[in-house]
Amino acid sequence: AAFHDRHPKAPTPLVSRAYAEAANAHTGQLRNSGEPYIEHPLSVAMIVAELGLDDVTIAAALLHDAVEDTKLSLDELRSSFGNDVATIVDGVTKLERIRFDSKEAQQAAIMRKMLVAMAKDIRVLLIKLADRLHNMQTIAAMPTFKQQRTAQETLDIYAPLAHRLGMEHLKQELEDLAFAAMYPKRYAEIEQMVSTRSPERDLYLAQVLTVVRERLAELRIHGEVNGRPKHLWSIYEKMVVKGKEFDEIFDLVGLRVIVDRVEDCYAALGSIHATWKPVQ
Ligand code: MN
Repeated sequence: AAFHDRHPKAPTPLVSRAYAEAANAHTGQLRNSGEPYIEHPLSVAMIVAELGLDDVTIAAALLHDAVEDTKLSLDELRSSFGNDVATIVDGVTKLERIRFDSKEAQQAAIMRKMLVAMAKDIRVLLIKLADRLHNMQTIAAMPTFKQQRTAQETLDIYAPLAHRLGMEHLKQELEDLAFAAMYPKRYAEIEQMVSTRSPERDLYLAQVLTVVRERLAELRIHGEVNGRPKHLWSIYEKMVVKGKEFDEIFDLVGLRVIVDRVEDCYAALGSIHATWKPVQ
């Protein structure tokens, strides 16, 4: 259904066959949480499906742990699902085998470059990011020392990678999950401070929403504007790195604009350029 939402008329046999094969291959395996292992590749596939990716990527996501963790071979995958699916699964498997232990920023940058270079097909990286997202969502089932390591690696390697790919929503989700795993008490404190309603913040958000909606209407861009979920990690970073007090942080409110047709934006660009005055 998630695949059809984004590709209404596309055929689904590849996806269903990949699910059947993965469910069969992982039979009897359990995750740390005690649930059947197939829940993991299924969730990863759901994440890439919701990103709007194609059936090949979804099939590869369903099978992404099958070669590493089951008796299924790459050759079998290739003959059943084609070269693309097999090559992507192979790419994800190879990334799985590298350990990133570095905390040094420069080293982390080298690691990210290595990751990008190894994943010749961008779909490998997208599955890897979805894999990490689901592992972070279910991190509570892991032993504490492993949680710390995985969360640190997520902050150093995967969140910046999502950022470089322009996937801000994914980046923020990864950061907040890592934050919660590494500093649960501070996470809870900030969550509490943010969720405590402040009249000034509500008023401010209402005003900004009105201005943005009016401007979009003027430009004939159809879509919706909403307040976006708070990104707790960036608030924490500002407090720690810049030494700010909670009350001094102004971007506690954020907006998300979802446009119906990106073409509307291109059309609007012309009229914006005509009246554009750069901010001094
Ligand atoms: Mn996995």
